[in-house]
Amino acid sequence: MGLDKFSDECGIVGVVLNNGKDAARIAYFGLNGVQHRGQESTGIAVRNEDEITCFKDSGLVTEVFNEKILSILSSDIALGHTNHFRDPLGLTGSSQPFTINYGASSLSVAFNGGFINAKALRQKLGSEGVAFTSNSEAETFAICLARNDKGNFEEAIIKTVRELKGGYAVGIMKEDCLYGVRDPLGIRPLAIGAIEEGYLLASESCAFDLMDGELIRDVQPGEIVKISREGITSIADEKAGKCASCIFEYVYFARPDSTIDGVNVFLSRERAGRILAEESPVEADLVIGVPDSGTPVATGFAAASGIPYSAGMIKDKYVGRTYIVADDKKRAHSIRLKFNPVRQIIEGKRIVIVDDSIVRGTTMRKIISTIKSLGAVEVHLRISSPPILHSCFYGVETPEEKRLIANNMSKDELAESLGADSLEYISIEGLKRSVSEEERFCTACFDGNYPVKVGVENE
Ligand code: SF4
Repeated sequence: MGLDKFSDECGIVGVVLNNGKDAARIAYFGLNGVQHRGQESTGIAVRNEDEITCFKDSGLVTEVFNEKILSILSSDIALGHTNHFRDPLGLTGSSQPFTINYGASSLSVAFNGGFINAKALRQKLGSEGVAFTSNSEAETFAICLARNDKGNFEEAIIKTVRELKGGYAVGIMKEDCLYGVRDPLGIRPLAIGAIEEGYLLASESCAFDLMDGELIRDVQPGEIVKISREGITSIADEKAGKCASCIFEYVYFARPDSTIDGVNVFLSRERAGRILAEESPVEADLVIGVPDSGTPVATGFAAASGIPYSAGMIKDKYVGRTYIVADDKKRAHSIRLKFNPVRQIIEGKRIVIVDDSIVRGTTMRKIISTIKSLGAVEVHLRISSPPILHSCFYGVETPEEKRLIANNMSKDELAESLGADSLEYISIEGLKRSVSEEERFCTACFDGNYPVKVGVENE
């Protein structure tokens, strides 16, 4: 696996209208707001009478949907998804929403996250004769829902939530209602919103802005909400102890214009930069952030340290993600295509480079060598997350632990290997404080304290 960042998971969008048939079109705008959570495939399912119609394909939202498709998907209810996970064969079997027909009924599921007991459960269901058509967690959830549906669908959701352990958020379309489900610890985000003509569901609040709507509130950890034309009702509370929402949403995954559990992501990143500057000061002439997630951290670092900030690294927004390139030599070149520092800003200066995380270090090594080749006299690296030492089992694609560079080198060795004159990370306490004073986060990729215990189920 060639990941040089933890990879976004997936994005969910839902729309229920009191008035009009444009739910798919509104969902399309919302999907653009969660595109950063998954770029491999996308889909929208709608319902008319008793029939669910779903269109999904590989590619970005703007590539997959056009006016003709959206007009065919005319409906007052829609469920959409952006998918991060790539099918190695390039097939769309893992694309979502995942729709199944059972008895006289049907449902669609849009899923974000991961189950720690999916493998064991799929084996059990397989031995009972269930034939899975994909590796998708959405299919596992949908099949459990259908099997648990004995005529009371809300009870079926509760039973399914109790069977499947992990960190997840789910959107479900059943008849003329949407349901939003957030795992009992609130690891993955999910929020509900409103527009003039109805109600919305989305992984992140920025999607509501793009749908011309507004955030009502987050779905609470363990909460199951029902969204219909009549409004939003909370139908169950499966909260399990303390909340453990993913702190990496604030570090890197979420869009900065989103507000998750009451905290704006941009502002939390800026606070992380301030805390980083207080924890690990350095004498330098200029602070530069690695775009995009490093930018607010860098402005916070500059404000707290008094060192001037410059947007001296230009990101080419038309170049694809670096890890698409399989070979290390080509990847190094693609990094220069993506981030190009401005020589005239850098030459002769002591530079502080601020980034959100180091996973394998490939990108950062190339960035530092480029900055030095352009005449920087010193390069100091400051990172707004602690060293990543552990994998994530809650729906985030992560390298094996042995491939995480912080497991293979001390901080000083890593600084030397990256070509940096110094390297410092924010502390776990500092990172938590940048988001909230409350103890309510999963920090397992830094400290190994998994809020949903992982074990044999992952093997
Ligand atoms: Fe987020 Fe890390 Fe916890 Fe995974 S292990 S949910 S990435 S904080």
